Amino acid sequence: MIKKPNLRGHTLEEIRSLITSLEEPSYRADQVYNWLTCRSAKSFQEMTNLPKNLREKLSNYFELSLPQIVEILRDEEGTTKIALRLEDGEIIESVIIPERDHFTLCVSTQVGCALGCKFCLTAKTGFKRNLEVKEIISQVVIAKNLLKEGGDTLPLRNIVFMGMGEPLANYTNLIKALKILEDKRGFNFSRKRLTVSTAGLVPELRSLARDFPTALALSLHAPRDDLRQSLMPIAKRYFLSEIIDVLRSFPRIKNGRITIEYILIKEVNDSLREAEELYQLLKGLPVKINLIPFNPHEELPFSKPTEDRIFSFQRYLLSKRMLTTVRKSKGVRISAGCGQLRRRLEGKPLTPNTINFESTIGTSSFL
Ligand code: SF4
Repeated sequence: MIKKPNLRGHTLEEIRSLITSLEEPSYRADQVYNWLTCRSAKSFQEMTNLPKNLREKLSNYFELSLPQIVEILRDEEGTTKIALRLEDGEIIESVIIPERDHFTLCVSTQVGCALGCKFCLTAKTGFKRNLEVKEIISQVVIAKNLLKEGGDTLPLRNIVFMGMGEPLANYTNLIKALKILEDKRGFNFSRKRLTVSTAGLVPELRSLARDFPTALALSLHAPRDDLRQSLMPIAKRYFLSEIIDVLRSFPRIKNGRITIEYILIKEVNDSLREAEELYQLLKGLPVKINLIPFNPHEELPFSKPTEDRIFSFQRYLLSKRMLTTVRKSKGVRISAGCGQLRRRLEGKPLTPNTINFESTIGTSSFL
């Protein structure tokens, strides 16, 4: 049986071409696109400004299916972790994070990850495959629908590509998804509110600067190459000096700062020596340093530093006038660290659409 094309993950121009090939006027494609993006429609039947016979015709030729929600976990601060099952049975994660006047969505770009960072549970899964554009976009649609169904009135305003996977390793699909999310005729996310997080893939960072510069987050985690290489195998390929060079020339969206993600791991990278090296490495760059106390897990051989060490590290950087925050912990009890929920679900029989609400206090980092 020939599979019908799924209209999600297509640009407006592509949808026009598909729908006009059915001898329908192109404004019908614009209406469909509006339903898919602005109104997060789940089916053609919802598209009530289209004639009934056209809705039936479209559903004969195309589909709009979304990944299946396998589990939703929510903590008492409202951080919501969503496990989604893709068509091939793979599980990915998204996280909705409440902010003061809006929501942020953290999306995945790959099933698993090939980079093998030593502190990351997604690395334990290994790399399975890249997500398709429709699978990236679907995470946004599902989040918008969950917020709407939950009666939330604040907008979903920020998308951070910080979930499972290295976004720049799925470059072509990432760029297309970014273009669809920014399109003013549809989702209309401001570019400064689309943040791509990377472990520092230098050639792809250069391409991003050229093709679609967004807000940027660098997963740094160590201020010198030897230490970084012991935590992140990719650091053997790209040295800090090259990465910092790219950051210096990376276009800044509306003068925004580059976010530097730094997981503080007890007695690994949390001493004042590293704080000073971090300052030396980053001084002069427009950065905001986000310190993330390590989120302990039985499968990972690291611990969380003491509060004293965390705040000494932060104080040192603040004393050097580096904007430095300690990430407020969100969702440790709901497995909100990167890859934790998938890891927990791996090997378990999955009950479709199980919704578990946990009332817990998040106390550690969300990656
Ligand atoms: S931290 Fe990010 S880049 Fe590193 S293994 Fe995990 S998902 Fe991949």
